[in-house]
Amino acid sequence: MSTELSVIRINQEGYAEGLPVSAAVLSNEPVALKNAAGEILRVFCPDPAPVDPASGDRVSLLNLGTLEAGDYELGNESGFRRFSVRPAVWDTVTHALVRGLYFQRCGCELSPVHAGIYSRPACHTAPALDWEDRSIRRRITGGWHDAGDYGKYVGPGAVTVAHLLYAWKLFPQGCSGTLNIPESGNGIPDILNEARYELEWILQMQRSDGAFHHKLTKALFAPFIMPHDDREPEYLMPLSFCATGDACACLALAARVYRPFDEAFANRMLLSACHAWDWLQAHPDFVPFMNPEGVRTGWYRGHGDTDARFWAACELFAATGEARYREAAEKLFLSGQQLTQFGWADVAGFGALCCLFDLREKSGDILGTQLREEFLRQSEEPYRLSRASGYGTDLAPDQYVWGSILPVMGGAMAMIMNTMLTGRQDMQDAALLQWHYALGMNALDLCFITGFGERSVLHPHHRPSEADGIDAPVPGLISGGPNNRFCFPHTKEKLGDKIPPAKYFLDETPSADTNEIAIYWNSPAVFVGAYFNALSGAGRKT
Ligand SMILES: [Zn+2]
Repeated sequence: MSTELSVIRINQEGYAEGLPVSAAVLSNEPVALKNAAGEILRVFCPDPAPVDPASGDRVSLLNLGTLEAGDYELGNESGFRRFSVRPAVWDTVTHALVRGLYFQRCGCELSPVHAGIYSRPACHTAPALDWEDRSIRRRITGGWHDAGDYGKYVGPGAVTVAHLLYAWKLFPQGCSGTLNIPESGNGIPDILNEARYELEWILQMQRSDGAFHHKLTKALFAPFIMPHDDREPEYLMPLSFCATGDACACLALAARVYRPFDEAFANRMLLSACHAWDWLQAHPDFVPFMNPEGVRTGWYRGHGDTDARFWAACELFAATGEARYREAAEKLFLSGQQLTQFGWADVAGFGALCCLFDLREKSGDILGTQLREEFLRQSEEPYRLSRASGYGTDLAPDQYVWGSILPVMGGAMAMIMNTMLTGRQDMQDAALLQWHYALGMNALDLCFITGFGERSVLHPHHRPSEADGIDAPVPGLISGGPNNRFCFPHTKEKLGDKIPPAKYFLDETPSADTNEIAIYWNSPAVFVGAYFNALSGAGRKT
């Protein structure tokens, strides 16, 4: 990787025919657009750029409009940057983000046929102990490793599945390609095959009373060893309200999605969701999950569970048509929900997806008209932030949190939904800038997805990528990205306190605070990628 960053920042995977081409320019000199023959097509004279507060860069966003398919160069005497414009140009990277989850599979062999050089034996196959009653041993298999560690967490898993299922429901052309996974060719789209691997695990995490265990992890994070070498016992940790609400919602959603393919599986999931809902109804007072003493794995504490209950009520109403779920959803919506949030800490955005695009006319006045108005109002915020940013990124300078890629992609999801409701092109263009951000049009000149782009993340905080003895990281995993809000001493020591937020990033394995990967960061990127991939012609028979 060269150390000299280009003055032209681009989507390093290229641009789609028919969608606007944008580039960020860190030069006040005119820049020329050349075609493959080296002929100058246009010259742009950027206005003197103000300093972008998040990055400290003097940067202008250049909108080149739509360009016909071909190879181009953009730049000036400070340097040119090559890029291509193609139909369905993001098909491979979008599918790689789904396939990245296959590499996170726990409890099964990753065979050379499917995993190539990243093949490995099955991991974590021993029965788990119940943390609260060590006399109970249960064999619970499957699921995805959550992130750079080997823990498995119900809430984050449910959120990941939901991103995938809504991507498939809304933009099937953009994400239904074959993934070369063990189930490929079984007549079911591979994105659903992959999501089912997690759903089967989530189902096993339910207690007999309907509540869900928060997580299945060891007491401490494993060292940087391969998963099949990690043989310390795993524990079923205590129940949690958020896990129960998230699993309830996700399973009710999945029951609708999988019904045409496997009725018995759909019924199993709906029954489980109803059981979880009854437990939530019997336990109205939220109690936050606390790591038991001696446990140091991911906390994933929620600050409340009304968002999860809202989402669950929407999905159960969609799945059953029963009025009691609609009434519950209406009440929870009216209590105030953040409808543009799509992460484990707030899942209300999935309830909005359900109401706006699935329930539609069945929603009624409150979940229909009122919710739509509120959603449109809230989705102006990422748009406003994108407009105020030098790189078009939908974050304020103080919003570069751990896993900042999640709010970036979440904002893009909200803007895509807004466009689908209103037809607003400016919203869609702003959403597209977030996709470009993930793929390299940013202050770091870095593609955050492993294995893609000319300058991409090489040393993610991901145990298999470090321990497998292979130079290249496991492909198709998205890094959390810059974070200056809560940092490890290692990162602080290296970066100090003068680096601006959008550059507070270390491509080093120990920097979990800036460079970890997580299943629930891949999945919103799948949603965004699938939308633009479908829009740019992927999956169409020509
Ligand atoms: Zn495992």
